[in-house]
Amino acid sequence: MGLLSLGTPLPWNEVAKYADYVREHGVIQLLHTISKYKNRRCDAPLWGDEVEYMVVKLKDGKATLVLNQEKILDQLMNIPVSENVSYHPEYGRYMVEATPGRPFGPDIKAVLDLEPNLRLRRQLAAAYLEEGEHLLAIGSYPLMGVSTFAETKEEVGGPASQSLFLPDDIINLHPRFPTLSANIRLRRGKKVEISVLVFKDTNTEDPWSDPLCSHRPKALGSNDVYMDAMGFGMGCSCLQLTFQGGDIDQARDLYDALAPLTPLMLALSAATPIFRGVLSDQDVRWSVIAEAVDDRTDQEKKIIPKSRYDSIDCYISRNNPILNADAGFYNDVSVVTNPKITRQLESSGLFDNDPLLVQHFSHLFIRDPLVIFEELIEQDDSVSTDHFENIQSTNWQTMRFKPPPNDTIGWRVEFRPMEIQITDFENAAYSVFMVLMARVAVEQKRCFYQPISQVDQNMKTAHLRNSIKRGKYWFRTNTLIQTANSDPAFQLLTLHEIFNGCPTFEGFLPMVDSYLSTCKLQTDERRKINSYLSLISLRASGDIKTDAQWIRDQVRSHRDYKFDSIITETINYDLMETISKIGEDQDWDRLVSQLKCK
Ligand code: ADP
Ligand code: MG
Ligand code: MG
Ligand code: MG
Repeated sequence: MGLLSLGTPLPWNEVAKYADYVREHGVIQLLHTISKYKNRRCDAPLWGDEVEYMVVKLKDGKATLVLNQEKILDQLMNIPVSENVSYHPEYGRYMVEATPGRPFGPDIKAVLDLEPNLRLRRQLAAAYLEEGEHLLAIGSYPLMGVSTFAETKEEVGGPASQSLFLPDDIINLHPRFPTLSANIRLRRGKKVEISVLVFKDTNTEDPWSDPLCSHRPKALGSNDVYMDAMGFGMGCSCLQLTFQGGDIDQARDLYDALAPLTPLMLALSAATPIFRGVLSDQDVRWSVIAEAVDDRTDQEKKIIPKSRYDSIDCYISRNNPILNADAGFYNDVSVVTNPKITRQLESSGLFDNDPLLVQHFSHLFIRDPLVIFEELIEQDDSVSTDHFENIQSTNWQTMRFKPPPNDTIGWRVEFRPMEIQITDFENAAYSVFMVLMARVAVEQKRCFYQPISQVDQNMKTAHLRNSIKRGKYWFRTNTLIQTANSDPAFQLLTLHEIFNGCPTFEGFLPMVDSYLSTCKLQTDERRKINSYLSLISLRASGDIKTDAQWIRDQVRSHRDYKFDSIITETINYDLMETISKIGEDQDWDRLVSQLKCK
């Protein structure tokens, strides 16, 4: 979640007038930050996760989203700091984001603190729920936008979203959120148009006529599940991680090292197979959010290839010999920049011989600010970063490069593609694996540079249904920086080969293993870490199901399911009830046995 300012949001036509002003002052603020912190050194490798829950009520055979965010957050603010948990608002009024109170690390043993902390976050929050309400860690709410899916009397078609399916009441009440929704639509000139393909089950008509939606834009194909509001995307939950670099250069290296992992981890964490009551032909949320906040006009789409929620377009390292040897080979997609901003950055004198960071920031500044608060236009640019954060926090890319916000926090990178998992164990496992991969990158001097066009192609592959089994991914197979002089080798590999290794590639898990063998860990600590790594390994090999496959199978084996791709209220209720039990019981053994592929 980005910044939350209080105040009066300007209407869209006013925002448009101030766009250049916000960009210009955003850059001035960024330049102050860079000059203040560019020589900051020796920050510890701290890290922290963010998980998002949905509050679902299960009562009398009916499941509904509960719109109680303000109430529950008010109460959660009273939890003492000593508990080391922290709760934050999110776009959906049925959502709660939870983070540790303080980041973890630097000792690698701190990875073992995450799972107990995740349990505590869930338990403490659940204590404030009313009877029948549950906190679920699910990527999308299956019946989002279908019939009376949320506890509200408000009609659809409200002024913010003007949606055929979602009442505005499901949006966080803070004025930033309805304003974001309205301004994306106004900037774009029409409502957002989101579509995913319907999963063609044995009784799904061909061609399909969506029984849950009668109006749809002409541009959409008959096999598309149509969605028309920001809430379908930003109302999804995810799992994010932030890593601190020792200094600005190490953070830049880490950003680049982790970027090629983004599509792989999206595919490996797949947990979102249902949208607007329909089983879809993909297992992940990413493209849905990308379309849900796509504010480009039709004209701009010809010039700007990606939504502001999309995969990154360029690497940013300053010192990496592999990138330096042939930056154009790796940064091989056209990166749209803002010439005025490029000039402003270059003339600061802070970026001598550093075109990649200029390109990175100038690329972020091609976007307009979406929400401006009247009271916050005038700022002291030497102390405030509001205008910079306005642009930065609405560039929702697979990776985010985060400058220090104050004297106590260093240069960080955020890894943003992963899907939220149903259980705390799984969320801990994916997070711990990524912490270990970040350590592997830094300590073993690994780099995974491949042309950005390959990362983009992998991102598409990650959207295939069951992409673990059906997809192959481009990946670099010589990853030690010492081999910088040798020619790069790229291969099309399965996730099993990339994670578990194969004759031509060492594999992530063996890399992690060799890193762990250099760490001083007790036997039981190592055993616990191994249990996380075995989840990752079994998922990559396809021996156990992703949460998406498991959810799909739950639907397809339900007595009410007619093999027509449609999720009924009963199917949804039973699915939500099962998920709430798995999440709350923490019965990992049972989950693993359910996840085993036959
Ligand atoms: P966002 O802007 O993405 O919402 P948050 O400020 O909510 O980010 O923090 C994301 C994560 O970063 C949290 O888990 C938090 O604990 C962690 N974090 C805070 N400080 C640091 C730090 N110095 N280094 C690494 N991670 C940190
Ligand atoms: Mg975040
Ligand atoms: Mg969030
Ligand atoms: Mg956050």
